[in-house]
This record gives sequence, structure tokens and C-alpha cells, in this order.
Amino acid sequence: MTNNQAGNVAFLDLVGLHEELEKELVAVFRKALKTAGFIGWPMLEEFERSFAAFCEARFAIGVNSGTDALRFALMAAGVRKGDSVITVPNTFIATTEAISQAGARPEFVDVDERTYNMDPDKLREFLEQRCSRDRHGKLFSRNTRRPVTAIVPVHLYGQPADMDPIQELADRYQLIVIEDACQAHGAEYFSRRDQRWKKIGSIGNAAAFSFYPGKNLGACGEAGIVTTNDEETASRIRMIRDHGQAKKYFHDVEGYNGRLDSLQAGILSVKLQYLPSWNQSRRERARKYNELLAGIEGKVITPFEPSWSKAVYHLYVVQVENRNEVQAALAEQNIGTGIHYPIPLHLQKAYTHLGYRSCDFGVCENGARRILSLPMFPTLSASDQMRVVSAMVRNVQRIAARAVAAD
Ligand SMILES: *Cc1c(COP(=O)(O)O)cnc(C)c1O
Repeated sequence: MTNNQAGNVAFLDLVGLHEELEKELVAVFRKALKTAGFIGWPMLEEFERSFAAFCEARFAIGVNSGTDALRFALMAAGVRKGDSVITVPNTFIATTEAISQAGARPEFVDVDERTYNMDPDKLREFLEQRCSRDRHGKLFSRNTRRPVTAIVPVHLYGQPADMDPIQELADRYQLIVIEDACQAHGAEYFSRRDQRWKKIGSIGNAAAFSFYPGKNLGACGEAGIVTTNDEETASRIRMIRDHGQAKKYFHDVEGYNGRLDSLQAGILSVKLQYLPSWNQSRRERARKYNELLAGIEGKVITPFEPSWSKAVYHLYVVQVENRNEVQAALAEQNIGTGIHYPIPLHLQKAYTHLGYRSCDFGVCENGARRILSLPMFPTLSASDQMRVVSAMVRNVQRIAARAVAAD
């Protein structure tokens, strides 16, 4: 191979983005040093206010990770030990870890093959055919005999799940909806029911965001946040994240050490100002990929964005035949890619006790064999993107031709 350094395209480059902000970020650190307010509230409260406004939600409560954001949201919204919580099998394990850590058990429904998100028809089917009501009218899962109390739709890759029908079912069955918005900061959903665009983070009972460095909005470390319009949920989360304190040394319940520190909050305040333009850059790069990859029609399936969705492309995911070979060829040409996610959760070793089998969720399993995430970040240059596309075209065609010849 004659590829030189200049031919490399990283899957994700966070260095360039932070270099541009160096002055502003260092100023945050100086301010924290001067006041020694490392856990203190002013910087945190300022960020919580701006993030709530950004999401068009009434409250935002900073916590130490996206995983804890999900866990605290579930607990505060009323999920109890012994419950069942419905989610999808194609997500990062943090979604189901949070459900288990809240004392509940995850149960899966399959996804839509075009959006990769929870299929509302599958959810309806699950509620109608796999659940019953006990003699008190309480909904329970016939499989696990547990009460079903919540749904966790995941806005995967930065694309909103179809919230109207999900919310409708939640209303009908009186279920809590906690959105996993860890990949969807700034995404928007057009509610046909309410005839208006809504920001992700303002729809369900609460939504959880992660600020892991690689997310669309990332801290310089670990961080997360919950948004909600419900005052009681908000104040419960504030207690849970801070050792169950209503005020200092008055512990109403046992909680966690789950706070967001001021330094990260200050850094996130700086970066939040740039998020709309970063998301815009991601959308433009996605459009460019769609356009350029249309040339290998039928061989590469590009992302589908329904008319009711404004996705923020945390990941740009295509489907290809012979995915592993294509990925290996790209790696050899120094083009970074990823697979999100190679093994659906119901087939992970950690979840053998749930008793699922291969073929239980065909859409998700089929997708897992074909999906490939291409380089996507706001500072991805046009020439690097062209390099990715021409390598894709070359490799996909060569590998397809070889597969035909071998038949
Ligand atoms: C990143 C992520 C999480 C967890 O966030 P952390 O901040 O890493 O704890 C949860 N769900 C999804 C879908 C994610 O992508």
C-alpha cells in the first residue's frame, strides 16, 4: 500500500474541534481555580438553564453520565424494583444497564428497518399480545410476570424515534416514557398529533443525554443530563444525584454520588453555543454522503430520514453487503469506520438470563450484519469525505464483483 499519512481519514477527530476553543475552555478552568468552586452551583445552574432552554424543556438536571441520567430518570419517574421496562435490542448497553440498575428488567421489541428505531407497531403488538391485566387492572408481561411500567425509546444515531404513536400507546396503557437521547442533542421531531416541531428532550416524561466526549455535545470528561417538564421528577432527580439530600445533611432517601461537576458544566456551556452550527455541519455532510453514495445504487443503503425527523447525525450509518470485507478494505486504506452495534443486546452474554434467542428480533439482527458507520464529525473536510466516498465505491464494487464471480 502506498497510502501516506495524508490519506488517513479518522472515524472521529476531536482534536481539531477543541483546538479552536482552547482559549475559551482554558478560561473556564481558570475561573474554577480562582473560586475553587469545583462542585459549586453557579456554573452548573447556568448550564442547566441553557440546556433546558436549548431543549425547550422546563428543567434540566446535570448528572455525571448518560447512564446515570437514564437510571435516575427511570427511578424518579416511578420505575420500581421488579418492574419490566420495554426498549430495543439495538442500542448501547448503557440503556439496559440503567434499566437493570433501577431494579427493573429490560424487555425488547424490534425496530423499524429503515430508521433503526423502535417500531411502534411492534410495541403495540407487544402490549396487546404479550401483556395482560391482573385483577387490579395492572398491566403485566406474561413472559416475566412482572408489571410493565415504562418504555425507553432510543433516538439512535441522532434520529428521533417516532414519538407520536409511542406516546399514544404510553397514554393508553399508562406507561412512563423515558427517552434515551444520548445520541440526539438538538434533534427535532414533528408531532402530527400537535402539529408542530418539538425538540428532543421535551416530549416524554423525561429524557437522558450523555456528554461523553464523542457525542454531538461532549464534555472534556464524563457528564450527562436529564431534561423534563415535570417539576416533581426534576426535584427527585436533584435529590437522587446528591445522596438523597433535600438540603445539606438531611437525607430523605439514599441516593448516589451522581453530580455533574462545575468544570464540566462550564466547558459544556461554552460548547453548547456551537452545537447548532456543529449539528448543521453534520447534516450537510450527511446530505453530501447521500448524494455521492447514490452512485452505487442498490449496493449501499443510505440513511432514511422521515419527513417528521430532523436528525443530527451523531453517526452516519449505511448498509452494505459483505460488510466485514468492505470494512477491512477501508481499514487497509486507513479509513476509520465503526459498527453500531455488532451484537444486539439480546444476544450478549450479559443477557443470557433474559432467555432470548437468535432470530427473536430479525430486523435488528439483519441490520447488525450489514451496518457500517462512516467518518462523521463537524470538521470532516470535503476532501476527506471525497476520499471516503471513492474508497467506498471502489471497494464495494470490487467486492461485489468478486462475490458474483465466486458464485
Ligand atoms: C453514550 C450512550 C449512553 C451512555 O452515556 P454515558 O455518558 O457514556 O454513560 C446511553 N445510551 C446511548 C444510546 C448512548 O449512545
